[in-house]
Amino acid sequence: MRLDNKVAIVTGAASGIGKEIAALFAREGAKVVIADLNQRGADAVAAELGGAKRAIGVGVDVTSEAQTEACVAKTIEAFGQVDILISNAGIQTVAPIDQFEFGKWKQLISIHLDGAFLTTRAALREMYKHGKGGCIIYMGSVHSKEASVLKAPYVTAKHGLIGLAKVVAKEGAAHGVRANVICPGFVRTPLVDKQIPEQAKELGISEQEVIKNVMLKETVDSEFTTVDDVAQTALFLAAFPSNALTGQSIVVSHGWFMQ
Ligand code: NAD
Repeated sequence: MRLDNKVAIVTGAASGIGKEIAALFAREGAKVVIADLNQRGADAVAAELGGAKRAIGVGVDVTSEAQTEACVAKTIEAFGQVDILISNAGIQTVAPIDQFEFGKWKQLISIHLDGAFLTTRAALREMYKHGKGGCIIYMGSVHSKEASVLKAPYVTAKHGLIGLAKVVAKEGAAHGVRANVICPGFVRTPLVDKQIPEQAKELGISEQEVIKNVMLKETVDSEFTTVDDVAQTALFLAAFPSNALTGQSIVVSHGWFMQ
């Protein structure tokens, strides 16, 4: 088991990519905190993963300073330490810039960037305190490297996460903390399923055309990335045995974006 005796907090783990990472990490021996705005969903995932000795659900809004700190405190209370943080909670909102509502811009930026900062700060304090190092992984996107129409705040936030990861890699090094970003292509989760009809409407094309000509057009095999593809990459990063792999961003996108 590659994560024996490790404790991982996964934000946004009641659904989609985060849920799969939590499940894989639990199978690899980690104790997992399912941290999500959706408390009921988080509790359900924790129960599926074996209940209180293996996984706990914590209701948390990652944009709240008090709630992110309380989430880390609950982790310490339940499992005694934090070794891995997967900063994954996110949303998507699509609209052209000239029509983008400021409130929706701020909401997206806050969940992705304030959320990443607040969870990082709270987890880092514990990692520094217990002195055994740690690993922070941010859920970026191909949109950390590449732009698409209709996604101004998302592309902005996902690019920003690479900057944050590089600073954490530099500051955390003295404490044995590594930080990296995973950049997936399109993955069929509720976040993407919601976008397909929205993009079809905005672009004036069918839903099938959104999938074929927008989402998968640049891939090498016209395939979606899977939650397992992303979870395996997170495991590779989390279990990596040295500080050599830090400050990096890894694209997992069926060749949509090549570095
Ligand atoms: P999802 O909608 O299935 O899951 C997102 C989870 O985040 C939900 O459980 C939701 O309750 C939670 N969440 C939302 N706002 C929150 C908040 N303020 N505090 C705490 N939790 C909150 O989406 P997903 O596709 O699994 O996305 C997960 C991450 O992966 C996001 O950061 C997303 O941008 C990124 N990503 C997704 C894709 C994709 O194609 N699905 C591609 C690249 C990157």
